Amino acid sequence: MDCEHTRHAFAARLLNAREEPASAALEAHLHACGSCRVEYEELSDLPPLLGLVEVHELDGVPLPDPQRAIDAVRAEMSRAPDTAR
Ligand SMILES: [Zn+2]
Repeated sequence: MDCEHTRHAFAARLLNAREEPASAALEAHLHACGSCRVEYEELSDLPPLLGLVEVHELDGVPLPDPQRAIDAVRAEMSRAPDTAR
């Protein structure tokens, strides 16, 4: 599993948009690859923002590009860094 596939896989998993059967390979890569691990931990901290996505409406629908969802969340974070309390 390379970095690109890993990031798509964990993005899909975090967004709960589809089943991700390769979670063992995913976790193996996260252990081996520091930059993907950082990315994953960063994204794992975002459930409230991910909640803004209408995930239930995406159930069973493969995301065309998980990276775009990640970029959208990041853009949201940088615009409103600490107002969610
Ligand atoms: Zn990697």
